[in-house]
Amino acid sequence: MTASGTTARARILDGKALAARVRGEIAVEARRLAASGVTPGLAVVLVGDNPASQIYVRSKTRACQEAGFRAFDHHLPATTPERDLLALVASLNANRDVDGILVQLPLPATIDPRRVLLAIAPGKDVDGLHPENLGRLLMGQPRFIACTPFGVMKLVAEAGLTLSGADAVVIGRSNLVGKPMAALLTAVDATVTLCHSKTRDLADRVRRADLVVAALGHPGAIKGEWIKPGATVIDVGTNRLPDGKLVGDVEFEAAAARAAAITPVPGGVGPMTIAMLLANTLTAARIRAGELSVY
Ligand code: NAP
Repeated sequence: MTASGTTARARILDGKALAARVRGEIAVEARRLAASGVTPGLAVVLVGDNPASQIYVRSKTRACQEAGFRAFDHHLPATTPERDLLALVASLNANRDVDGILVQLPLPATIDPRRVLLAIAPGKDVDGLHPENLGRLLMGQPRFIACTPFGVMKLVAEAGLTLSGADAVVIGRSNLVGKPMAALLTAVDATVTLCHSKTRDLADRVRRADLVVAALGHPGAIKGEWIKPGATVIDVGTNRLPDGKLVGDVEFEAAAARAAAITPVPGGVGPMTIAMLLANTLTAARIRAGELSVY
C-alpha cells in the first residue's frame, strides 16, 4: 500500500510503443541511406511450415518493408536438403544488395542449425548468433547484438534503471537470450547472476535482484512474491497456454504489485526483438555505405 492507501502498481514498459518509435527512427535513417544509393536489404529464410515461425517471418518481412528496406524472402519446403539451404546462404552472402541474413529457427530435424549458422557471413549475421558476433560481444567489441537481449537493454533504459552496480538476475542461459543478456549487462557494470535449471535457491536469488530478466520458457515460473519491491522485471518468456493465451514466465499481476516497472506479454520484449533486427540490418547497411567501420 502507498501512503495514500492505494495499491502501488508497476509502470508497464510498453514494448510495442517503444518499438514503433525505434522503427520510425530507423525508417528515417533508411530513407537517408537509400537517397545516397544504399537501400538496406534483409533476407529472411524460412524452411518448412512451422506455424509460429510463419507468423514471426511475416511480421519481420512486414516490419522490413514498413522501414523502407528491401525484403528478400525465401520459403523452402521442409524436405529441403541441408546442402541446398547452405547453397542459398552462400548466394545471399555474395549478394551485395543483401545486408542481413536471417534463417528462422527451428530448422527441420534433418538440418544441423549449427552448420547453417556458421555458413552465414558474420558481417551479415544480423541475428547476432554467429560465434564471431557472440565472441565480439563477450570481448566488448560488438558488431551485431542478438536481437532479443538488445531489445531488453532498450526497455531497461526506458525504465530508467541505473545498471552500474545493480544486481541483475538472468534466468535462462541459451545462446539466443540468456548468455548474450548476461554479457550485455556485465558490460554496463551490473553484477550478473546467470541462473538455469540446475540453479539452487532461484527464489532467493530473484529476491535480491534490482533487475530480473526471465527467459526460461515456463509460464508463471517466476513468482510475484519473489520480486524485490521496486525492482525492474523484464519477461522474455513467450508461452502459449492450451486455451491459446500467450503468457510470460513471470506471474504478471503479483509481480506488478511489487515491481517499479515490468514488461507485459504480449507487447513487451517481442516487438523490441523485431525492431532490433531492423537496427542491426541498418547498421550492416551503414557499414556497406562506408559510414561505419568495424575493427
Ligand atoms: P531455451 O533455449 O529453451 O533455454 C531455456 C533456459 O532456461 C535454459 O538455460 C534452461 O536451463 C533454463 N531453465 C529451464 N527451466 C528452468 C527452471 N525451472 N529454472 C531455471 N532455469 C530454467 O529457451 P530460449 O530460446 O532462451 O527462450 C526462453 C523463452 O524466451 C521462451 O519462452 C521463448 O519463447 C522466449 N523467447 C522470446 C523472444 C521474444 O522475442 N519475445 C525471443 C526469444 C525467446 P538449462 O540450460 O539448464 O537447460
